[in-house]
Parts: sequence; structure tokens; C-alpha cells
Amino acid sequence: MAKRYRGKTLKNLPSKGRGECPLCKKTRIKLLYPHRTETNQLIQVCKNCRNK
Ligand SMILES: [Zn+2]
Repeated sequence: MAKRYRGKTLKNLPSKGRGECPLCKKTRIKLLYPHRTETNQLIQVCKNCRNK
């Protein structure tokens, strides 16, 4: 699983890895980073929110 965030791997994802970031509400951004919320749910967030 090298380079999960680039290239052909993305095209295999639903909507090519893009969507609305649940944290910053940006749409059509790539959601590539798993993030654990306070309620212990694992969500996908964009690169801007990965360290929050
Ligand atoms: Zn975000």
C-alpha cells in the first residue's frame, strides 16, 4: 500500500477520494486522512484537518 494518496489508487475510491470534509465543510476536496473523533468514530478528513 505505498503512496495511498496519489495516482491510480485514488481512482479506485468512491468519487475518486473526493467529497465534503466533515470538519472544515470544504466540498470536492480529497478526503484521504483517517481521523478519530471524540465519539471514537473514524472519519476521513482533508489534509488541512488531519492534525486536528
Ligand atoms: Zn477539512
